[in-house]
Amino acid sequence: MKEPALAYEYGKGLYLNITNKCPTSCVFCIKRKWKMSYRGNDLNLGAREPSLEEVIAQIKNKSSQKRFEELVLCGYGEPTQRFDIIKKLAGSVRKGEIEGLPKDIRIRINTNGLGNLINGYDITPQMKGLINSLHISLNSHKPENWKKLMRPMPQYEKEGFDSVISFIISARSHVDEVVISAVKGLEPDIEGLKKFAEKINVPLRLRPELENEN
Ligand code: SF4
Repeated sequence: MKEPALAYEYGKGLYLNITNKCPTSCVFCIKRKWKMSYRGNDLNLGAREPSLEEVIAQIKNKSSQKRFEELVLCGYGEPTQRFDIIKKLAGSVRKGEIEGLPKDIRIRINTNGLGNLINGYDITPQMKGLINSLHISLNSHKPENWKKLMRPMPQYEKEGFDSVISFIISARSHVDEVVISAVKGLEPDIEGLKKFAEKINVPLRLRPELENEN
């Protein structure tokens, strides 16, 4: 059986697929429609999540063939479900322990922002010096609409939205680039969302819904 891709290329980045666990079921998620495949890469990890060593082996393999501008934690799952692995991996990179990879390579996490609630503490201070960028899929500035769009698991429904906002605000002190994103056409009050982003002083990126590209 073909092994899933733990590291896959997209643009100038090397993307890392470390988990399929996710506390949300976003209305715009394409993992089912695209059958866990992303542009020719099988991201279905099955029952077993990869070890740090397995991820590092694939990074070494890919970066021996090509120079990447960034590492991106992003797959069909929420990367902060494995924050311990992220910390260890980024720590190794920063110490220059991963052959073929510059130790100052940019490291980004694409996240739904629930990392604090998932881990039970504010994880953002631990990103300092390790993570350069956080792209947080917020989609709405209104708790009710956020719930409709993100469809969190029951245990994340009550505190989810507020926790994501605290995560964003706290991250600004520890991570150089914090961006919130929204899929175009899902939040009816887009001007309100823009004003909210301005109020919390975080840039907003509107992105098209991924549909029929795969
Ligand atoms: S956070 Fe990502 S993986 Fe999880 S449901 Fe949403 S789009 Fe899919």
